[in-house]
Amino acid sequence: MPLIVQKFGGTSVASDDRIRRAAGRAIEARERGFDVVMVVSARGKKTDELLAAAAALCESPPDREMDALLATGEQESAALMAMTLVGLGCPAISLTGGQAGIRTDESHAKARVAEIDRAKIERHLGEGRVVIVCGFQGVDRDGNTTTLGRGGSDTTATALAAALDADECEIYTDVEGIFTTDPRKVPSARQMPRISYDEMLELASLGAGVMHGRSIEFAKKFGVPLRVRSSLTDGPGTLISEASGDGRPVVGVALVEKESRVSLDNIPDRPGTIAAVFDCMAEARVAIDMVVQNVGIDGQARVSFTVCDDDLASALAAGQAAIERIGSGAVSQRVGLAKVSAVGRGMASQAGVAATLFRALASAGINIEMITTSEIKISALVPQSRATEAVQVIHETFELEKPSEAPLQVVAEGSDSLRKAVESLTDLEDIAVSDVRLDRSQASITLTNVPDEPGVVASVLEAVAEGGVPVDMIVQNAGFEGRANVSLTYPRERSGDCAATLQNLMIGWPEATSASEAAIAKLTVEGVGLRSHTGVGKRLFGAIAAAEANVKMIGTSEINVSAVLRDDDASAAAAQAEAAFGVK
Ligand code: ASP
Ligand code: MG
Repeated sequence: MPLIVQKFGGTSVASDDRIRRAAGRAIEARERGFDVVMVVSARGKKTDELLAAAAALCESPPDREMDALLATGEQESAALMAMTLVGLGCPAISLTGGQAGIRTDESHAKARVAEIDRAKIERHLGEGRVVIVCGFQGVDRDGNTTTLGRGGSDTTATALAAALDADECEIYTDVEGIFTTDPRKVPSARQMPRISYDEMLELASLGAGVMHGRSIEFAKKFGVPLRVRSSLTDGPGTLISEASGDGRPVVGVALVEKESRVSLDNIPDRPGTIAAVFDCMAEARVAIDMVVQNVGIDGQARVSFTVCDDDLASALAAGQAAIERIGSGAVSQRVGLAKVSAVGRGMASQAGVAATLFRALASAGINIEMITTSEIKISALVPQSRATEAVQVIHETFELEKPSEAPLQVVAEGSDSLRKAVESLTDLEDIAVSDVRLDRSQASITLTNVPDEPGVVASVLEAVAEGGVPVDMIVQNAGFEGRANVSLTYPRERSGDCAATLQNLMIGWPEATSASEAAIAKLTVEGVGLRSHTGVGKRLFGAIAAAEANVKMIGTSEINVSAVLRDDDASAAAAQAEAAFGVK
């Protein structure tokens, strides 16, 4: 029989009426011929209430007891759901995470799913019951109750759908689906009919309010299509799957407010420095978000990265530790920033997207503090005070309020290498590195000392686009004394054209200089879980340092991390990286 997993979030089980409504959805699905597994969250604000109850009695409750307490919220919902179904004449049984066969690792409060024993669920389904599983929880090897982190019921649902090979997985929530951007910030935001896993992962912050990020990683790894829909209406919701619904260059705009930037200046441009930075951050458990380094000039490099405001103090201390390990340099910071990201798979194949985006921001007078790109994402750091406006401007420029006229694009993303990586995982939520790739077809150019003001990057990208040169990576580092550096990579055979177009532009910037390099190679590590697992940067840049290769440029995203190296060093670095990530 076909199987459906239906997950109901806290608001969807908050009242008796809503529990009845959810039960009705399960009965409907059975009438359509499905076996039904339901996953439920704690009712309404229950988890917050339990947290407050703990805080009232103990200043820092043991993690183990906290998990034992929080897990009761989901148990209440599951038992109530089961009784409701039975009362409606539908056989049903509730199972805790442990009873349902969900085994996690030992890390309380942020446990990861290790394996799922499907026997018990299958037995109950076989006996004609709806099985209701408590979301957000599991047990470790010792039988202790663990929880997966706030919002973790989505991950329970996706994990069960993967393990049971479900035909559908519906995530019922209190919004209609995934929107092109936050509708509270941009009223013309539109609900998307569908979006691909990669786009959704890159839009993490957009989805963050709607879905647990790890559930998208799970879904991508195991090819589980997710439908996010409202439990209160009959709208079709948004389908998250391997297929992208939109051929447009940008499908959504995400915003992360409250980022701070840390820069390490005047560090020596030599092998091992970046590895030292990542080591120190990993030791201090600082999660780095955007990271940029451009090509070093005069033997000196500048690395900048962003952290959430809460991590700033630790990041500054870890930055100082890195400087001491490296032997020279200085740490600086800038607070009050926000990250705006435009995402779309179409941008990989369309020229001039970045030029259009940065021109639009420049026309609004918004200065860009830092830029990183991946194949399907452009992220810009802007002043927090201009962030909402930046999102609006990008949303308008790419006309995201209008439905796409392009026909549905059904492009499979699931690569054989990802499937292989997933098959060899010991724990289901382990990081799955699918590829270590070396691209030796590109060249780079770095413009140093360009004015740090709105419109400069736009002019650079427009000039390059007018010359017909497609750009791959774009990196702009933090401005320094009113000056900024911009580095681009593009096809090597277009080196001459690119340098020529930019020469003209640079006549207007007498203090700026440019340096082209033809013999570069881009090393990319690709996979699922690169961001949610810490230490990926540490491993990659450690491997590059072990090959004694110098890092020229860095680009990071949710789905890959790239480093630009000297072409001569690239093979050795790739071999070290393959060994570090266990890929061949
Ligand atoms: N009840 C948990 C929370 O509030 C898990 C969930 O809702 O998914 O975070
Ligand atoms: Mg939730």
